[in-house]
Amino acid sequence: MKEIKRSGAAIFSSKDGGENLVIAYPYKIDYIHSYAEDSEFFLGLAKGKLLGSACKKCNLKYGTPRGHCMRCGEETRWMELPLEGRVHSWTTCYFGSEEFLKETPFNLVLVEFQGVNTPFLSRLANAKTQDIYIGMKVKAQFRKNPKYSVSDVYFVPAPEPGRLAHEQRRR
Ligand SMILES: [Zn+2]
Repeated sequence: MKEIKRSGAAIFSSKDGGENLVIAYPYKIDYIHSYAEDSEFFLGLAKGKLLGSACKKCNLKYGTPRGHCMRCGEETRWMELPLEGRVHSWTTCYFGSEEFLKETPFNLVLVEFQGVNTPFLSRLANAKTQDIYIGMKVKAQFRKNPKYSVSDVYFVPAPEPGRLAHEQRRR
Protein backbone atom coordinates (compact mmCIF):
# COMPACT_ATOMS: atom_id res chain seq x y z
CA MET A 1 0.00 0.00 0.00
CA LYS A 2 1.51 3.31 -1.09
CA GLU A 3 1.26 6.21 1.32
CA ILE A 4 1.42 9.83 0.27
CA LYS A 5 1.75 12.36 3.06
CA ARG A 6 0.71 15.98 2.82
CA SER A 7 0.20 18.52 5.57
CA GLY A 8 -2.43 17.11 7.90
CA ALA A 9 -3.56 14.60 5.34
CA ALA A 10 -2.60 11.23 3.89
CA ILE A 11 -3.82 9.44 0.83
CA PHE A 12 -3.84 5.67 0.89
CA SER A 13 -4.17 3.72 -2.33
CA SER A 14 -6.82 1.05 -2.15
CA LYS A 15 -6.52 -2.37 -3.81
CA ASP A 16 -8.90 -1.42 -6.60
CA GLY A 17 -6.70 1.55 -7.60
CA GLY A 18 -8.80 4.20 -5.84
CA GLU A 19 -7.61 6.63 -3.23
CA ASN A 20 -8.68 6.96 0.40
CA LEU A 21 -8.10 10.36 1.91
CA VAL A 22 -7.39 10.56 5.66
CA ILE A 23 -7.14 13.97 7.28
CA ALA A 24 -6.06 15.08 10.75
CA TYR A 25 -7.32 18.16 12.56
CA PRO A 26 -7.58 19.29 16.20
CA TYR A 27 -10.73 18.21 17.99
CA LYS A 28 -11.71 19.31 21.47
CA ILE A 29 -14.93 19.06 23.40
CA ASP A 30 -15.96 19.85 26.95
CA TYR A 31 -18.01 16.91 28.07
CA ILE A 32 -20.48 18.05 30.70
CA HIS A 33 -22.49 15.50 32.59
CA SER A 34 -23.98 15.09 36.04
CA TYR A 35 -22.87 12.45 38.53
CA ALA A 36 -26.36 12.75 40.02
CA GLU A 37 -26.80 10.22 42.82
CA ASP A 38 -23.19 9.01 42.42
CA SER A 39 -21.95 12.50 43.44
CA GLU A 40 -21.46 11.44 47.05
CA PHE A 41 -18.96 8.76 45.98
CA PHE A 42 -16.75 11.25 44.10
CA LEU A 43 -17.05 13.91 46.81
CA GLY A 44 -16.05 11.19 49.27
CA LEU A 45 -12.87 10.42 47.28
CA ALA A 46 -11.92 14.10 47.54
CA LYS A 47 -12.20 13.77 51.34
CA GLY A 48 -10.17 10.54 51.45
CA LYS A 49 -13.21 8.32 51.94
CA LEU A 50 -14.20 5.27 49.96
CA LEU A 51 -17.97 4.83 49.84
CA GLY A 52 -19.81 1.63 49.07
CA SER A 53 -23.47 0.80 49.39
CA ALA A 54 -25.52 -1.39 51.69
CA CYS A 55 -29.02 -2.67 50.98
CA LYS A 56 -31.60 -1.10 53.31
CA LYS A 57 -33.56 -4.37 53.40
CA CYS A 58 -31.25 -7.41 53.16
CA ASN A 59 -28.02 -5.57 54.12
CA LEU A 60 -25.99 -6.99 51.22
CA LYS A 61 -22.89 -4.82 51.08
CA TYR A 62 -21.42 -3.52 47.83
CA GLY A 63 -17.87 -2.26 47.37
CA THR A 64 -19.16 0.26 44.81
CA PRO A 65 -21.85 2.91 44.48
CA ARG A 66 -25.14 1.20 43.74
CA GLY A 67 -28.63 2.69 43.86
CA HIS A 68 -30.53 -0.54 44.28
CA CYS A 69 -29.78 -4.02 45.55
CA MET A 70 -29.18 -6.61 42.84
CA ARG A 71 -30.47 -9.36 45.16
CA CYS A 72 -33.76 -7.93 46.44
CA GLY A 73 -34.26 -4.70 44.47
CA GLU A 74 -34.48 -2.44 47.53
CA GLU A 75 -32.74 0.95 47.74
CA THR A 76 -29.27 1.14 49.24
CA ARG A 77 -27.65 3.55 51.69
CA TRP A 78 -24.07 4.86 51.61
CA MET A 79 -21.55 2.98 53.68
CA GLU A 80 -17.92 3.89 54.36
CA LEU A 81 -15.53 1.15 53.25
CA PRO A 82 -12.30 0.20 55.03
CA LEU A 83 -9.23 1.77 53.44
CA GLU A 84 -7.41 -1.56 53.47
CA GLY A 85 -8.37 -4.71 51.65
CA ARG A 86 -6.90 -7.68 49.85
CA VAL A 87 -6.34 -8.49 46.18
CA HIS A 88 -9.19 -10.69 44.98
CA SER A 89 -7.88 -10.83 41.41
CA TRP A 90 -5.67 -8.71 39.20
CA THR A 91 -4.50 -8.13 35.63
CA THR A 92 -1.89 -6.09 33.78
CA CYS A 93 -3.22 -3.68 31.13
CA TYR A 94 -1.06 -3.03 28.09
CA PHE A 95 -3.72 -0.86 26.52
CA GLY A 96 -6.20 1.59 27.99
CA SER A 97 -8.52 4.48 27.32
CA GLU A 98 -6.99 7.81 26.26
CA GLU A 99 -6.59 9.04 29.84
CA PHE A 100 -4.53 6.01 30.88
CA LEU A 101 -2.78 5.16 27.61
CA LYS A 102 0.43 7.02 28.49
CA GLU A 103 0.65 5.05 31.74
CA THR A 104 0.47 1.58 30.24
CA PRO A 105 1.35 -1.00 31.27
CA PHE A 106 -0.41 -0.69 34.63
CA ASN A 107 -1.97 -3.15 37.04
CA LEU A 108 -5.68 -3.34 37.81
CA VAL A 109 -6.85 -5.07 40.96
CA LEU A 110 -10.21 -6.18 42.28
CA VAL A 111 -9.98 -5.30 45.98
CA GLU A 112 -12.07 -7.20 48.51
CA PHE A 113 -12.89 -5.66 51.88
CA GLN A 114 -13.67 -7.56 55.04
CA GLY A 115 -17.43 -7.85 55.52
CA VAL A 116 -18.24 -6.46 52.05
CA ASN A 117 -19.87 -8.77 49.49
CA THR A 118 -18.56 -7.31 46.21
CA PRO A 119 -15.07 -6.06 45.27
CA PHE A 120 -13.88 -2.67 44.04
CA LEU A 121 -11.91 -2.28 40.79
CA SER A 122 -8.92 0.04 41.01
CA ARG A 123 -5.32 0.52 39.99
CA LEU A 124 -2.44 -0.86 41.98
CA ALA A 125 0.60 1.43 42.04
CA ASN A 126 4.10 0.91 43.48
CA ALA A 127 4.04 -2.83 42.81
CA LYS A 128 5.96 -4.90 40.31
CA THR A 129 3.74 -7.28 38.38
CA GLN A 130 5.71 -10.31 39.58
CA ASP A 131 5.17 -9.27 43.22
CA ILE A 132 1.35 -9.17 43.05
CA TYR A 133 -0.57 -12.13 44.41
CA ILE A 134 -4.13 -13.04 45.33
CA GLY A 135 -4.70 -12.19 48.98
CA MET A 136 -2.08 -9.42 48.96
CA LYS A 137 -2.87 -6.68 51.45
CA VAL A 138 -3.40 -3.28 49.81
CA LYS A 139 -4.40 0.17 51.01
CA ALA A 140 -6.20 3.05 49.35
CA GLN A 141 -4.44 6.29 48.42
CA PHE A 142 -6.17 9.43 47.24
CA ARG A 143 -5.11 12.05 44.76
CA LYS A 144 -4.21 15.28 46.57
CA ASN A 145 -5.85 17.49 43.96
CA PRO A 146 -9.05 15.63 43.08
CA LYS A 147 -10.28 15.49 39.51
CA TYR A 148 -13.59 13.96 40.62
CA SER A 149 -12.76 10.88 38.59
CA VAL A 150 -12.40 7.21 39.57
CA SER A 151 -8.66 7.76 39.27
CA ASP A 152 -8.83 9.92 42.42
CA VAL A 153 -8.34 6.67 44.30
CA TYR A 154 -5.75 3.96 43.70
CA PHE A 155 -4.18 1.27 45.82
CA VAL A 156 -0.64 0.49 46.93
CA PRO A 157 0.75 -2.55 48.73
CA ALA A 158 0.16 -2.40 52.48
CA PRO A 159 2.88 -3.65 54.79
CA GLU A 160 2.29 -7.02 56.40
CA PRO A 161 4.65 -7.18 59.36
CA GLY A 162 6.30 -10.52 59.95
CA ARG A 163 5.70 -11.82 56.45
CA LEU A 164 8.63 -12.17 54.08
CA ALA A 165 8.26 -11.39 50.40
CA HIS A 166 8.85 -15.01 49.29
CA GLU A 167 6.22 -16.24 51.77
CA GLN A 168 3.71 -13.73 50.44
CA ARG A 169 4.17 -14.92 46.87
CA ARG A 170 3.44 -18.56 47.78
CA ARG A 171 -0.02 -17.74 49.12
ZN1 LIG B 1 -31.12 -6.39 49.22
